[in-house]
Amino acid sequence: MKAINTVTGTASPEQLGTTLMHEHLLIGFAGWELDCAAPRFERKSALKTCVERLKELRDLGLETFVDPCPMDIGRDVSFMAEIASASGMRVICSTGLYKEDLGKAAYFRSRTIDDIASIYVSEINKGIDDTGIKAGLIKCATSKGQITKYEEMCLRAAARAHKATGAPITTHTEDGTMGCEQLDIFASEGVDLRHVIIGHSCGSSDLGYHVAMLDRGCFLGFDRFGLDFVHPDKLRLASLIGLLGVGYENQVVLSHDSVACWLGRGLEGILTPETAKLVANWTPTHVFKDILPALKRAGVGEAKIRAMLVENPRQYFQN
Ligand SMILES: [Zn+2]
Repeated sequence: MKAINTVTGTASPEQLGTTLMHEHLLIGFAGWELDCAAPRFERKSALKTCVERLKELRDLGLETFVDPCPMDIGRDVSFMAEIASASGMRVICSTGLYKEDLGKAAYFRSRTIDDIASIYVSEINKGIDDTGIKAGLIKCATSKGQITKYEEMCLRAAARAHKATGAPITTHTEDGTMGCEQLDIFASEGVDLRHVIIGHSCGSSDLGYHVAMLDRGCFLGFDRFGLDFVHPDKLRLASLIGLLGVGYENQVVLSHDSVACWLGRGLEGILTPETAKLVANWTPTHVFKDILPALKRAGVGEAKIRAMLVENPRQYFQN
């Protein structure tokens, strides 16, 4: 047994149960706090929205909700803890910095890898600000088709903080690119790749890309179901069914990367009326309501579904 930090205390890997490995309660891209013309953030109604959402998930059998919001895009761990207490859902939060173009690189760019690693270690071992809430995993992120110098620094810091604390690593990849290069960086820091989830791997349906990563021992996040405007569910499903068909069920985790509440204007102005139609299913219940039935219709059995939702999250935190 190994203690996992949750926002309301510790849990053992066996206690996690059915787990969504990548969802968000609150996101605000760096700078949102300066947008005084945006609608004010109504904490009370946001809290209500999130509690309702988690209660709905609890009714569908979900026991653990992992919110890998990096520290620089609106992470609010007290807000998460209030929601966890009110909904009865176990919530795990993260430390880590986001990709260069959407995070707060301006300050951290001139720090060293070990400066950044020491922040991550402190958030895992001592707690975040003065909340006493500790991070349970480490997030890092890369851009589309490239890993900037800054992002590489954050990946190396994540690797070192992982080695110092045992907290596992989860990543953001953009449009299914750079997963292999992320693994190269972790491996060069001596990370056992069974402690790593390459997130948003379902942003590509290139099975060669997936198998190249899986054969190095990591987990892949098929964790953007419902985000059809980035990559269609039909292609995410086709590649997932293919990978399950050849026996990779012990290395895939499922999720949506959904966002319950936004700080600032959120997706306003980003989605067009056309693309808005393509996020109609982008809710954290979609896997349970639509994706699992689709997998079953394709012949995927209960044992493989249980592996992706229960056993792989447990194994990832236990490794
Ligand atoms: Zn995310």
